Amino acid sequence: MHDYFPEELALWKRIENILKEVLMSYCYLEIRLPLLEKTELFKRAIGNITDIVEKEMYSFQDRKGHSLTLRPEGTVGCIRAIIQNCLLKKKKHHRFWYLGPMFRYERPQMGRYRQFYQLGAEVFGIDTKDIDLEIILLTNRFWQRLGIHSHLTLEINSIGSQTARVQYKTELVSFLKKHESLLDEDCKRRLYTNPLRILDSKNQEIQKILKDGPLLKNYIDFSENVDFKNLCNMISFHGIKYRYNPKLVRGLDYYNNTVFEWKSSQIGAQNTICAGGRYDNLFQEMGSQKTSGIGFAIGMERLVLLMKSLNIFSDVIKEVDIYVIFLSEENKNYAVKLSEEIRNIYPKLKVFINFFNQNIKKKIKNAVISSARLAILIGDNNMKQNHVLVKDLKKRTEHCFEKDELMIKINDVFYRRT
Ligand code: ATP
Ligand code: MG
Repeated sequence: MHDYFPEELALWKRIENILKEVLMSYCYLEIRLPLLEKTELFKRAIGNITDIVEKEMYSFQDRKGHSLTLRPEGTVGCIRAIIQNCLLKKKKHHRFWYLGPMFRYERPQMGRYRQFYQLGAEVFGIDTKDIDLEIILLTNRFWQRLGIHSHLTLEINSIGSQTARVQYKTELVSFLKKHESLLDEDCKRRLYTNPLRILDSKNQEIQKILKDGPLLKNYIDFSENVDFKNLCNMISFHGIKYRYNPKLVRGLDYYNNTVFEWKSSQIGAQNTICAGGRYDNLFQEMGSQKTSGIGFAIGMERLVLLMKSLNIFSDVIKEVDIYVIFLSEENKNYAVKLSEEIRNIYPKLKVFINFFNQNIKKKIKNAVISSARLAILIGDNNMKQNHVLVKDLKKRTEHCFEKDELMIKINDVFYRRT
């Protein structure tokens, strides 16, 4: 679990702002949900024999002995909130987004952490593929706005209905059992727990074996295959390249039909930056009326890794605009008062008062190495004449100003285009 410091967060904020702008342009509304939910909820929704529920959840008992879990993902809590607050009946909002930490007890490595941030979005109640397409367009727009679209590839698949997958699973298991001695430990275990996950194994030997195996596509009903093909055509029609990956399955049980991932080859082995899909049975499984749903989540740390590796947004962000220096303790009150007045008139400027016990030379040196454009020096001599000394650190000039003149100077420097 990581600590995040200002320099890093400056980059995060810029990325987040762009993502939020795009979400707003598709009429998504923000929701904020608890970090804790009942353990039972995740078990029921994500599936008892998935990696997450089997070995990745942080669960504990509260004082009354109820088992609670730090959320490993956002969809389940989001649906719980929608059902509990009767939002479906109100039929007002269908598109939501959230940003926050998720927790999974995994083996930490690059791009995989025990606390990580996801920006997720969920849409409810639209059962046609129109919304699948819109979500692909929206996520594609994220990457365009961030300037990374040429570094991400879309992989897409349809995993059909649960019934289709049950049939397929039986076939897949009986096929793989014939090759059981060649399977690695992970796949051997999955053969009896979650055989579909074997399909996306990174082990090349396993992929070789699978080449002759049964295909999920052949178990999916005709109309879904047609709808999926149409979706793929529409994605192309909008100029988005995709790779049909028949082996793409998701780690959570609740998905059906469309699933997709945006991947990058620039961030190491954990290469999926954004993943999502449809979950048309989840509402029912969680005790509500049948309602279709679709969503995705971006792993923010992985997105930031990619932005850093491409050196995007690497320009220095200004931490200070105006650097205020007072020469002696007697001038301190005025320094604070003047700074407050500047903030009243120019609320967006960053005004820094140097409160450190440093000599004047040192303070000026610090002002020069800061990102400030102006330094204001307040000393007895100037004060007597109601003046402050203002250094323009870029132009390397200095002038004495009265307060009103100072405010005009600030306006000229920061807001007037030359
Ligand atoms: P993976 O195959 O990478 O484990 P997943 O199928 O477990 O992914 P999801 O549950 O779909 O992932 O989560 C969506 C996204 O959240 C992932 O694509 C990834 O970007 C990010 N993510 C998931 N787990 C982690 C983690 N432990 N650390 C950092 N990011 C993560
Ligand atoms: Mg995982």
